[in-house]
Parts: sequence; C-alpha cells; structure tokens
Amino acid sequence: MAVETRASAYQTAQRRFDAAADVIGLSDDTRRTLREVKRELTVHFPVRMDDGSVHVFTGWRVQHNISRGPAKGGIRYHPQANLELVKALAMLMTWKCAAVGIPYGGSKGAVACDPTKLSLNELEHLTRRFATEIAILIGPEKDIPAPDMGTNPQVMAWIMDTISMHSGHSVTASVTGKPVDVGGSEGRTDAPGRGATYLTLEALKYLHFDDQTPTVAIQGFGQVGRSAARLLDEAGLTIVAVSDSKGAIHNPKGLDLSALEEHRQVRGGVGGFKKAESITNEELLELPVTVLVPAAIEQQITEDNAGKIRARLVTEGANAAVTPEADQILHDRGIFLVPDIIANAGGVIVSYFEWVQDLQAFFWEEEEINTKLHHVITRAFYEILHMSVNKHIDMRLAAYALAVQRVANATTVRGIYP
Ligand code: GLU
Repeated sequence: MAVETRASAYQTAQRRFDAAADVIGLSDDTRRTLREVKRELTVHFPVRMDDGSVHVFTGWRVQHNISRGPAKGGIRYHPQANLELVKALAMLMTWKCAAVGIPYGGSKGAVACDPTKLSLNELEHLTRRFATEIAILIGPEKDIPAPDMGTNPQVMAWIMDTISMHSGHSVTASVTGKPVDVGGSEGRTDAPGRGATYLTLEALKYLHFDDQTPTVAIQGFGQVGRSAARLLDEAGLTIVAVSDSKGAIHNPKGLDLSALEEHRQVRGGVGGFKKAESITNEELLELPVTVLVPAAIEQQITEDNAGKIRARLVTEGANAAVTPEADQILHDRGIFLVPDIIANAGGVIVSYFEWVQDLQAFFWEEEEINTKLHHVITRAFYEILHMSVNKHIDMRLAAYALAVQRVANATTVRGIYP
C-alpha cells in the first residue's frame, strides 16, 4: 500500500475523533488534548543477522492516553509500518478499551520488518532488542504489549522474558497474549474471533435474522478470520467464502472447514482448495451473503466498493477495514456495521483477563473466560446500539462517542497537572 495512504491513517483517526467530539459537545480544551498522542518513541536498533551482517531496524511505541489506566496495545511487525499508522492505532486502542469498559488507556508498537523473511533466530534477536529499546515505557502498571499483525505468543514470551531479565524476576503481567505455559490465558488465541462471533450473533438477533441460515464471507484467514470461521460455523451459520493474501475461494453451499484446514496446512494457503471455486478478493467482498467479515488489513471497504457490498451485516474484524467514506455509504444503504472497536475487542478484553490473572497469580478456566468475554462485549454492544438509536447516528460514531465521553470524563475529573 502506498505510503501516502498509510500516512493518512492518523488523519482518519483524528477525523473520527472530531465527529465523536461534535456528537458529545466536547469542550475545546479537552478536544485539543485528546486529539494528540501523549508519547511517541522512535527507536533505531541493530540486529546481527544469521549471515553475520548487521541490519538496523526502526520501531515505535506510542501511548495515546493513560487517563483510565495503563496503556494497552499490540506490537505489529510489518514492512509498511510507520509512525503515523502506529499513532492512529494507539488512539484506536484508547477508544477500544473505553468502549468496552476495561480500565486501560491506549498504545501501539511496531517494527518495520517482514517477519516472514526472518529466521527464528533473527526474529528472537530483533524482538529482544526492540523490547529492550522500549523497556523504559513497558511494565504491568505502565504499558502492556500484546500480539498484533506479524507477531504471536512466542514473540510475547520473548518480550516478557527480556523485561523479566532486566528486572531480575519474572514479570508475567508485563505482556499479554503469551503462551499458557508462561502466564498466558486460556481462550486468548480465539478471543478476537470469538468476540466477533458473539457480536455477529447479537447483531443478527437485533436485525431479526435469527430465523434462517445466514451465510458468511470472511476476508483474511489469519488469527481473527480462522477463529471467526470456526465459531460462526459451530453456531450454525454457513461459511461460503474465505480468502487470504494469496487467494479467495467460494462455495455457495458452504465450505468444509476441517478439509480446508488440512489443505491450508499442506499448501500454506486457502487457494487451490478443490471443493470450492477460486474467486478474487474483490469478488469475495461483493458476494450476496448475510454477513461479511473483513478480517485482513486496513482500508478494504472504501468509497470504490462500498456501493457494491451486498451483505446485510458487516462485522469489522480487522482494525480500520472500512474507511469513513465507506461508513457513510454502508449506513445510507441500510447495511449494519459492527465497528472494529468492538468487533475485534475480544482480543484486548481477554488480554485484560490475562493481566488480572497474572497480577493475582490465580488462573481461570476457559469456560469462565468465555462467559466473562461474552458479558463484557455484549454489554458494550447494547450500550453502543442504545446510543446509536437514541442519537440517530451509525454504530461507529456511537461507539466513538461513548468511548470519547468516558476518556473525557476521566481526563476532566483528574484535571491538568500541575
Ligand atoms: N492487537 C490487538 C488489538 O488491536 C490486541 C491488543 C491487546 O490485547 O492489548 O486490539
């Protein structure tokens, strides 16, 4: 994607904030404060590669706001990552945590790199050095990283170990999304897809679509897309199309997900799956389905294709998959949107449970995690729906308005230091 498009991610985030600030009549002082990120750290650091050469990588950790609690947000490894994008995603985390009512502020981190081109050894060295560079900001009471695009539980284990080595004792609560063996939580891996599933089912109920077999198309077959496919299928919906970065497949009668998983393990992608026809990613987005789940990357539903979306419901699994222009088009066309800040909030909600369990050194079973996740995310959905109906605004604006109000309340009641 062009750097120019990426650079506008922060302006888009500010534009969405401004619209929410207008809805709640936010004062100019608070508006100026919340419109900017609190801290942005850029680091350039050397890593010795397997061939003996030294490569200098660039990374960032940005904290947007910490009024409601420690900063919380993932770390992304992606070749096109840049400061503007990380700032936008940090701001989104502040609203996400506030929208679902968990006691965190928002942050995000990234390293500009292609993790698929690094050996395991290089990935570990890059991760440990990056963790060291941003360690001045990280800690259970300060800022708690988690996985995002291009990172995983193993990367989180290395970060936790690095922070712990500096402290001289294990600081498991310094990172979430860790493997269960080192203080990770049951249910964390499936959490973003599970949250998206719970909200898809609630939205279908609200739209009175619970009396037939809804069909689903999922763009992106990463962590969010795969879990959502499996869980929506288990809930009785028919998954008719999925895609990954290399291809898309469609079977109007429904995909055999276990056969597809086997195919994926062998072939490394969904493309070429025999029991379905190959389509393009664009065609997948425009299929006549009940539910569309964009769970790949940003800016997939834009003003160019929003008019062609034929789903009744869009559950925005990936952060910022729908642009502001497309939001308006979908809304005008009566397509219901479950926006990213709640649709994929299952991840950070179970991260919150993981942090709480680590701090207490008392761990819960998966059933308890899923029950609590359902409670928190469904409560947020109905609070936002209520705001949307009462104020005659779309679900995204309602989610932002609710979230910005909560952060503004915390910021105002704490006052300005000194
Ligand atoms: N990276 C995920 C997100 O964008 C999870 C963040 C977290 O668990 O802190 O929501």
